[in-house]
Amino acid sequence: MANLGYIQVVRHCNHFCGFCSNPTTPYTHDFASMQALVDDLVRRGYFGVILTGGEPTLHPELPRVVGYARDRGLHVRMITNGWRLGDRAFARELAAAGLRLVHVSIYSVRPEIEARLRGVEGTLPRALAALDAAAAAGIEVNVNCVINRLNADHLDENVRYLLREHAAVRHFVWNNLDPSMGRAEVNQAAFVPRLADFELSLHRAMRLLDRSGRSFRVEKVPLCYMTDYAWASTETRKIVKMEERVVHFLDEKQTVRQTEWEHVYAPGCAACSLRPICGGLFDRGDAYDPAELSPVFVPMEAVVAKILSDPSDPSTRWRSLAAWREEFIAAKGEGERVSLSQGEGSSARRAAPTDATVPVGRLTAQGLRLYQAKRRAEAEKAARSGVALERALAPDAAADEGERR
Ligand code: SF4
Repeated sequence: MANLGYIQVVRHCNHFCGFCSNPTTPYTHDFASMQALVDDLVRRGYFGVILTGGEPTLHPELPRVVGYARDRGLHVRMITNGWRLGDRAFARELAAAGLRLVHVSIYSVRPEIEARLRGVEGTLPRALAALDAAAAAGIEVNVNCVINRLNADHLDENVRYLLREHAAVRHFVWNNLDPSMGRAEVNQAAFVPRLADFELSLHRAMRLLDRSGRSFRVEKVPLCYMTDYAWASTETRKIVKMEERVVHFLDEKQTVRQTEWEHVYAPGCAACSLRPICGGLFDRGDAYDPAELSPVFVPMEAVVAKILSDPSDPSTRWRSLAAWREEFIAAKGEGERVSLSQGEGSSARRAAPTDATVPVGRLTAQGLRLYQAKRRAEAEKAARSGVALERALAPDAAADEGERR
């Protein structure tokens, strides 16, 4: 199966998004600590690694870790805000090291909205330059977009512009905002959209991409808000293909292995034909409302067939729908299918098992000093931009932890 693991290379950033779910921590990586995490993904038999952050291009050892992951046989990808990647020499260096695919985050093609969401002026031209620099270096280019209150009404405008001006982009990923962590948790009122706010523009955006021959994925959006493109839901694809994901968080969570993709459901979900393959409503952070869900009545196995027959997906291994059905039912168990049909939430089952065997990053005295300096600078940015600063890691706990490592 095409499992992908995430390594947070750094947790600081040169942007200041008000809904960042992974803001600055005192933890840092050196090459050896990242090498251990790459080895961990290889040991798990993973297909690839996604280097992320914070902003991963801020780590001086990034090209070296890309090369190491490539040499260990992983498909190497990176998520970036594009600020540094617009430098063509840097893009070429990463390509030569083995970077195969890059996700450049762009929230809005309206410069004033993008700057407001980023907390920094001038971000859009640099992200657009990154698309071109990566493509010119031979790196496959995707666009990532966090759906939020400020861009919810023009997701299709973003796609139309990018298809016209940056034709090298072949794949789009939307993540509905995760309101449970970091700065997003303390700024929910400013940035969390209602599902109905983006339903129409997301539909138009997906239709544009589908007609243009591009591919796309959508995360944390219930299938009743993307029914015509249910096959593009990240959670649904993982449920159907029974995949897992490992994230090496550069914070106190450390390694999280996610094998369950179901969140919460409304009573009406019991009647929904897509219930067995739907991730439901992303509930962590309590910012979304189950009252927004409503059952749909479309053939579920048509969605499954579309996923299983996707020619671009290297992980498809079922030769027929019948073979998939047998394995899916055996994996989930008849008993669970019965409980799923009751429309119950799954908060106990979705608790992510942790794997603490490989330490993620280091807590050092220097890392703590940098963290405290960064927080002071970000407190000023927060005051200027009118967003709240995320909760601090308790300094005493961080110091104690630092002494143990
Ligand atoms: S199971 Fe619930 S959340 Fe999922 S599509 Fe059906 S009604 Fe919507």
